[in-house]
Amino acid sequence: MRDYQKFYIDGKWVDPVEPKTANVINPATEEVSGRISMASLPDVEKAVQAARKAFASWSQTTREQRLEILLAIQAEYAKRQNEIGEAITEEMGAPKALGNGFHVGLGGGHIAAAIESLKTFKFEELRGNTLIHRVPIGVCAMITPWNWPMNQVAVKVLPALATGCTMVLKPPQLAPYSAQIFAEVLDKAGVPAGVFNMLQGSGAVVGAALSAHPEVDLVSITGSEAVGVEIAKAAAPTVKRVCQELGGKSAFIVLDDADLAKNVASATSGMMVNSGQTCSAGSRLLVPKKRMAEAIEAARKAANEVTVGDPLGNFAMGPMVSKTQFNEVQRYINIGIEEGAELIAGGPGRPDGISKGYFCKPTVFAKVSNQSKIAREEIFGPVLVIIGYDDIDDAVAIANDSDFGLAGYVNGADRELCNKVAKRLRTGWVSINGGFDFQAPFGGMKKSGNGREWGEFGFHEYVEIQALLGYA
Ligand code: NAP
Ligand code: MG
Repeated sequence: MRDYQKFYIDGKWVDPVEPKTANVINPATEEVSGRISMASLPDVEKAVQAARKAFASWSQTTREQRLEILLAIQAEYAKRQNEIGEAITEEMGAPKALGNGFHVGLGGGHIAAAIESLKTFKFEELRGNTLIHRVPIGVCAMITPWNWPMNQVAVKVLPALATGCTMVLKPPQLAPYSAQIFAEVLDKAGVPAGVFNMLQGSGAVVGAALSAHPEVDLVSITGSEAVGVEIAKAAAPTVKRVCQELGGKSAFIVLDDADLAKNVASATSGMMVNSGQTCSAGSRLLVPKKRMAEAIEAARKAANEVTVGDPLGNFAMGPMVSKTQFNEVQRYINIGIEEGAELIAGGPGRPDGISKGYFCKPTVFAKVSNQSKIAREEIFGPVLVIIGYDDIDDAVAIANDSDFGLAGYVNGADRELCNKVAKRLRTGWVSINGGFDFQAPFGGMKKSGNGREWGEFGFHEYVEIQALLGYA
């Protein structure tokens, strides 16, 4: 049982002003795995004031001073990574190989990328006689989701630290453990008091109060569209910057010259990673209509090969994060059936032989219309829809016919053609034949948000531009 009852404020672990706790459920067992304290408004006030006070000195530190702290964080993170992996498995059900692997690796990758970016980031740039001066925006509120919990904390905290901002983090109630250990890492690494603060609690109370707080200069949210909108509304009267990293319904286009079976198989198993709880998941698989039968065979086989079970065992897929999320996925699977899509793998209910835990079946629908609900709404579960296209123009049109614009995937043999197709997608991030880069800006267009995180581009969210005319 984990017992995390203190908040990290002004460089110390402190008790909540008004004691209140909440249980955290292990989604694989449905049992209580620990508890956290739930912050109230006086805690928010203390954390914001600590961040405000620390901003005066932290904003004046040199690049070298901050680099030293980031390197210390990197060293400390490396020491704690197994614990962080275990925490992620316990809090959100990631299979242990995934928790200790990609989950922890993403956090480490963002730390390394921030270190690299900080070495060369242009805080000052002379243009004619004018100095373009990039200064930290101030006190930042960070509100993060449960699906890639360490990734999303690291991708906000590191660039904020690197640019000289101070901050208050509110991790998700459902997955609070990895953030707790991360706060310990920052404490050990010698981040000065008040620069980083963390409160556990609900979005409705803590998230909303941070968003509306007049002493908060920026709020960065990774989460659902609905919450992103609420935060923007709450933030509006104080004219703070709002960075939104929201949902997606991304197209994975397999071009006609690609090895179809191989690409469909990897797109299908890729969709099931993290139980499909990935904002950038390629959840709409677009294949040439004339090759739909071939695609169905490959997807069915790949989905049926995805093993599901205890995250502590050797299974590819664990449970959904929560009962709510399990029910949502079940609801969408039933909608898909009602809409008349062809169910080719998985379906409603838990996998055979599993009677406890929020486990779903890796599910694939084929011959899906892009106008159907299961093609338009973000399911956030292990449900792939396969849509046929006539030609490249049709594939691009289908891909772009979405309220979201987060990610895209283009796979094919002809690199030039892939690149051309990728450029036509109205999404912030496109992976061509599996391309991946920690320095590539990550974020969405349309209802997927307005922010760009990762690497150097992530720094720009946390700086204000000051123009000093007649400087030179
Ligand atoms: P969520 O329900 O939107 O919650 C995200 C965070 O916002 C949580 O910490 C939540 O607190 C908090 N929150 C809730 N209501 C709030 C309010 N009124 N004011 C301020 N904060 C509030 O999202 P989720 O269910 O955790 O995560 C899934 C969603 O995140 C999906 O839509 C997914 O696509 C998106 N996502 C996007 C990206 C990206 O980079 N674009 C990455 C990952 C996930 P609680 O702890 O109380 O819930
Ligand atoms: Mg939620």
